[in-house]
Amino acid sequence: MADPIEELREKVALSCRILAMEGLVEGILGHVSARIPDSQEMWIRCRSQKEQGVRYTSVDAIRRVNFDGKGALGKEEYQAPNELPIHGEIYKKRPEVGCVIHAHPREALICGIADLELRPIFGAFNMPAMRMALEGVPVFPRSFLITRPELAAPMIDIMGDKRLCLMKGHGITVTGKSVEEATVRALNFDTLARTTLQVAQTGRKAPDIAPEDIAELPDIGSTFNDLWVWRYYVKKLQEEDRR
Ligand SMILES: [Zn+2]
Repeated sequence: MADPIEELREKVALSCRILAMEGLVEGILGHVSARIPDSQEMWIRCRSQKEQGVRYTSVDAIRRVNFDGKGALGKEEYQAPNELPIHGEIYKKRPEVGCVIHAHPREALICGIADLELRPIFGAFNMPAMRMALEGVPVFPRSFLITRPELAAPMIDIMGDKRLCLMKGHGITVTGKSVEEATVRALNFDTLARTTLQVAQTGRKAPDIAPEDIAELPDIGSTFNDLWVWRYYVKKLQEEDRR
């Protein structure tokens, strides 16, 4: 029978490759982690001398470390990400979080720089993204590299109990109970940011959708949807890699 801890490791690698395939991460920047159940440890995407970019993340590059980054980095001398405290500090403070994604997607970056507010400007087009906007997207106003726990703390304070954060002049941090949930949430966040930016580029101001329209957008629950969407992207990745 498959080892669930190894399966989790494979999902972290898949998430990295999916996020790169969809343009949320470019080159070698961006990382995904997953809490290892019943431990103070996580799987996290690391780099070695053989680094080839997030799109080509191998399972071997996903290393098991504690929330401070100490652990088995392996014979290839993998290096944990400089911004590991984004992951470790969230796991320490948010027991419900099972996966953390940190990425630098271009459109979210521009929304942050230009102070474009992420508002519910569409409805049935993408209901999870609309709900994200309706609940409000926290913006962390600082753009430094989060290399120490004390630099992660103010971002985690601004996130509060929200599951994502726009980091001005930097990128995004997205959490989820599972790798699948966090990955799909990051993709939806990207859709919200891309759409917001494209609307702003038309020069027209988009109003929020009407409350009576929101009332007719049922909360269909994310779990099954996330799994279906996740499977679609895993399949798309496999097809793309086969070419
Ligand atoms: Zn970063």
